[in-house]
Amino acid sequence: MKQRYQKISIHAGFTCPNRDGRVGYGGCTYCNNQAFVPDYCQSTKTVTQQLTEGVDFFRQKYPEQKYMAYFQSYTNTYAPLSHLKDLYEEALAFPDVEGLAIGTRPDCVNDELLDYLANLSSNYSITVEYGVESTDDNTLRFINRGHDYACAVDAIRRTAQRGISVVAHLILGLPTEDRELMLLHAERLSALPLSGLKLHQLQLVRGTRMAQQAEEMPHLFRLFSADDYIDLAIDFMERLRPGIEIERFVSQSPKELLIAPDWGLKNYEFTDRLRKRIAARQTYQGRLYHP
Ligand code: SF4
Repeated sequence: MKQRYQKISIHAGFTCPNRDGRVGYGGCTYCNNQAFVPDYCQSTKTVTQQLTEGVDFFRQKYPEQKYMAYFQSYTNTYAPLSHLKDLYEEALAFPDVEGLAIGTRPDCVNDELLDYLANLSSNYSITVEYGVESTDDNTLRFINRGHDYACAVDAIRRTAQRGISVVAHLILGLPTEDRELMLLHAERLSALPLSGLKLHQLQLVRGTRMAQQAEEMPHLFRLFSADDYIDLAIDFMERLRPGIEIERFVSQSPKELLIAPDWGLKNYEFTDRLRKRIAARQTYQGRLYHP
């Protein structure tokens, strides 16, 4: 039987260089980090405490499963290497944790850190997840990412060259992007040594600069209905290299933070609708991919 893995989210007290002034202030315009921090993961708790609570939550239902510590909130490589080592190794010392997934910005990794992670990856499953968000520099400026696409390409290549698995995050539906540009992202990302991709539909979240922009400049924003987004995501998938695993198609901000679009669909309902639409279109990942 295939081993089952569950990710446990860790909030390790990092901040973000796009918030504290090293790269910029205010952060990316769509970001409200509260939107993706589960309740059990508070930065006042140690890594071990968070893993204990996370694993306890799942253990009864799936006693045999193993875990990945998911350093998810903010920029999880934004600290001196000695501190990063302490945190990562505390997670790897936890029973049944067999690897790390580390979410970060592409401008926040150096060779010393990547060499260290490459070393770890000979004994553990190590994945670095980069927020790429768009492959278009105009968009990246508009959303105040604080880095360009070339920076993402460079970080992805340097990481993958060391044998570390790399996942990219991309948002579909950012203001200023039309359908053609969104599909071009699939072609550009296909040329990179990615092992996985997480797609997110654009969501307007309370307390973000983007929510304010949407009020001031509504003509720039086009939020998808669930069915329109599903068709776009399938168009995207058809152009994506088959070896890149699409780990997610959709994200869900907590209801109390979400302004729009509110599709009223649970994740499994979305997935079911997506599967049916793929079957109806008789298509598959990579159908329109040209190396
Ligand atoms: S999305 Fe990530 S990089 Fe951007 S401000 Fe939020 S934590 Fe920082």
